[in-house]
Formats: sequence, structure tokens, C-alpha cells
Amino acid sequence: MDRRLAISLPALFGSLAAAGSASAQGSATTDGTPAQFMPKRPADAAAQVNDIEKFPKCPYCGMSRRQFHHARMLVQYSDHLADGTCSLHCGAISLSLNIDREPVAIWVGDNASADEVKPLVDVGKASFLVGSKLPGVMTGNSKVAYGDPAAATAARAANGGEIVKFEQALLAAYTDMAQDVSRIRKNREERRRRAMEQKS
Ligand SMILES: [Zn+2]
Repeated sequence: MDRRLAISLPALFGSLAAAGSASAQGSATTDGTPAQFMPKRPADAAAQVNDIEKFPKCPYCGMSRRQFHHARMLVQYSDHLADGTCSLHCGAISLSLNIDREPVAIWVGDNASADEVKPLVDVGKASFLVGSKLPGVMTGNSKVAYGDPAAATAARAANGGEIVKFEQALLAAYTDMAQDVSRIRKNREERRRRAMEQKS
């Protein structure tokens, strides 16, 4: 790299470029995705293996993916960069930001499983229960994934809602985005205010 470029690049991108991997920086020159939104972990063709250890926090809201294991998502992009998010809401944000990166596999926590930490299931094999009484993560209109259609049917019988495929659940996530963002912003502001009050 030419010396002038080596000096000007960090000035341009600041800590973001420094935090990114060499491969991620390399692709920044050929990729229209804004640098600050490119997945920060190095390329990993099997990002879904031990995904919570690799992606402990949602990059878009900062929430713990271990805590929200049941709602978490993982998007594996074609260049093997991957994005681990807390929810479908933040997964939808990842997909909308990484516009020059093809998603080759998308995973979601499987609520048909009784495991303490839900395993991931391919979204293509999942049934999404949308709009039930079950609590949503980052949304007022919950979207809960089940790897087994029978589990989704049972959950609907108990909690209401509608069972849809991933494409429709994703559409609902984008449709709900405006209201959810507005509500989340208020909640987070309120939480910060209370934290400040407790400190003083
Ligand atoms: Zn999130």
C-alpha cells in the first residue's frame, strides 16, 4: 500500500477500518455496502457452528444473543462474511444494509426445541408464528420460528397468530419496522433516563 494511502485511510474510516478484518477491508474497495455496516468478523464458511460464541452481541441493537437465543438469527453471506443478530427485526436490518452481498443461508432459533439454548434451523425449513400472544423481540408483533410445523400449529392453538413462511415473516418485519423503531427508541430513552436518575 502506498504510504500516503496508508495514512489517509485510517483518518477516513477511523476505528471502523481498524476494527475490521483484512478481508473485510479488502472487499470494501469493491463493495457498495457502507463500510460501517459490513459484518466485522472474519470470513467463516460455517458461521452457524457455535454462533453465540462467535457473535455474542447483536451489532445493530447491542443485545445479547445468548439471552435472546430463541429469537436470534444468523445471515451467512456469499463471501462467507456472516452477521449474527438478536432477532428477525435486526436480521431484516442486516439484509437491507448488505446490499452487495448475497445471503446464501439464513438461520433462526428453533423454538420447537426444548434445549436450554435453542439450536439454529434454516429459515426455509421454519414455520413462523406471527402476531401471537408470545412476546416479540425488538417488535410488538411477535414472529416466532419453529423447525417443526406441528410445534408451530400447537403454539398457534395456545397463543393465536398466523403461521407463515420466512418470506412473509420478513415482509412483516419490514412492515412493522416504523412502529417498532419508534417504540424501541422511546423505551431505550426511558431506560437511559431512569439509569441517570438512579446514579444522581
Ligand atoms: Zn438486535
